[in-house]
Amino acid sequence: MLNIALFGPPGAGKGTQSERLIAKYGLLYISTGDILRKEIASGSHLGQEINRITSQGHFVSDELIMRIIRKTIDENPHVNGILFDGFPRTISQAILLEELIGDLHTRFFGVLSLEVPREELIKRLINRGKVSGRSDDREDVILERLREYESKTLPVAGYFQEKGFYYPVDGTGSLEEIFNRLVEQIDKHSNLQ
Ligand code: ADP
Repeated sequence: MLNIALFGPPGAGKGTQSERLIAKYGLLYISTGDILRKEIASGSHLGQEINRITSQGHFVSDELIMRIIRKTIDENPHVNGILFDGFPRTISQAILLEELIGDLHTRFFGVLSLEVPREELIKRLINRGKVSGRSDDREDVILERLREYESKTLPVAGYFQEKGFYYPVDGTGSLEEIFNRLVEQIDKHSNLQ
């Protein structure tokens, strides 16, 4: 099993690269952001509560995140591995991920981190906001998301760096170039070959 967490700030291109990675390696894709947006779109009571939190750029609870992740895994038992996008976002989620990997009797490849300069991220997100219709792709909310990322999510990088499971990748350039860099890291550090 190849279990990877794709890591990086909002706008780093995780969703775009994920599509290619899951196709190449036959992975189950778990994007916590996508799952939350689906729940919002359903109009459920829970969805309304999620929307109140995410449209301010804040994080939902670890308990809710773990519930949706475990449900997605239970619904997809036969996979070559899992690609997590948008998780873990906090140190407490990093610890919960390790517990989950233990429960599944599998291994964790590590964190592939897409590195993109801050100014480029803001530019990409403002542009995305013009077409995405996402309530959190507005400039004030974008800045709040980047603040949340810097204070709560960046420490996760250090956590996995210390364990030797952290692989930074330059997230600028063409989609193809970035994809090739990701594949190079996976093939170099996994024992799939
Ligand atoms: P981004 O472009 O900010 O990486 P995502 O699509 O991954 O966006 O997530 C959108 C929003 O959903 C986040 O800003 C956050 O409010 C919420 N969210 C997603 N994943 C998590 C998580 N693992 N823990 C807490 N909140 C999350």
